[in-house]
Amino acid sequence: MIRAKVVKMSEDDLDREALSEAGEILRKGGLVAFPTETVYGLGGNGLDPSASEKIYEAKGRPSDNPLIIHIARMEDLPPIVKEIPEKARRLAEACWPGPLTMIFYKSDIVPLETTGGLDTVAVRFPSNKIAQEMILAGGGYVAAPSANTSGRPSPTEAKHVEEDLGDKIDMIIDGGSVDIGLESTIVDCTVDPPVILRPGYVNQDMLQQVISRVGIDPGLISEDENIRPKAPGMKYRHYAPKAKLILVDGADEKVAAYICGQVQKKQAAGEQVGVICSGETRAMYKEGQIRCIGRRQNEEEIAQHLYAVLRDFDEEDISLIYSETFNTPRIGSAIMNRLIKAAGHEIVEV
Ligand code: AMP
Ligand code: MG
Repeated sequence: MIRAKVVKMSEDDLDREALSEAGEILRKGGLVAFPTETVYGLGGNGLDPSASEKIYEAKGRPSDNPLIIHIARMEDLPPIVKEIPEKARRLAEACWPGPLTMIFYKSDIVPLETTGGLDTVAVRFPSNKIAQEMILAGGGYVAAPSANTSGRPSPTEAKHVEEDLGDKIDMIIDGGSVDIGLESTIVDCTVDPPVILRPGYVNQDMLQQVISRVGIDPGLISEDENIRPKAPGMKYRHYAPKAKLILVDGADEKVAAYICGQVQKKQAAGEQVGVICSGETRAMYKEGQIRCIGRRQNEEEIAQHLYAVLRDFDEEDISLIYSETFNTPRIGSAIMNRLIKAAGHEIVEV
């Protein structure tokens, strides 16, 4: 059994030797987990079909769920796509490097193993310096899904990667906690106007400041089984904590009163219950395993802590979690997209 070599570095203090070792592993078809500004990625050479197969195997990911290819220079985009639509060019200029993934028609050098059999390819240019240097050392094209076991919350710290994949991959680059904590925004640029397939830190408003109209995939919001999301990965119940998660939506006081009542009832019946609340509402809760995920005033904080809090609950004997909702102004739709999926759409309105 392999045990991943773990190396630590920071963006301001890159370990060149470790990066070139990571590059060599990638060039030889091995797997390296690395930090990005969104979440940790599990990288393999995106142009090597067997490396992509290894990624699916390590994660236990369904092979129809395509991988995102990460690049680290604008000039590396044209060789892997058929064409770059004008609007995609403008989005790339405005948002890359950064937490935006765009879908293009793929060129022939991109193997179908990487794209889950699709004729399109997802591409992102991350801003994290460790990621950039590793991608270049590895040959320029790194296919990388989030570095978690399929179905678990995405990793926002290297220790999450070790928990899930420590005995399945060659190396883990520990670059500390990630900045954003939610996966990239995915925009389908094969259609006009482009359409958001997965909400993320870059929201619809920000995109519409660059190109005037950007749609939202109806499959993202619909509960109708016949309206499937266009990004294959969005149909899975990702981000699932082990405990049952129930979201409670409404005015703060009412939400807290409902959750407190439920916690008392369930605990009396012998259940261990968790609560996810915000800095602003923390004082309203007294019982259960209470986790404050961040202040609503600072929505970045909430995004950063979301997955770590869900993982923390997995470590404990908790069978039920109640969570407030977080429809914050800028990234609330991305936060809620993840939470609603983790809750399997179970929302109580109070
Ligand atoms: P992850 O890398 O784990 O964040 O997942 C990548 C996401 O990108 C999944 O939801 C995929 O379904 C989606 N994706 C990747 N490639 C494509 C593509 N060519 N078309 C649509 N969605 C894609
Ligand atoms: Mg993922």
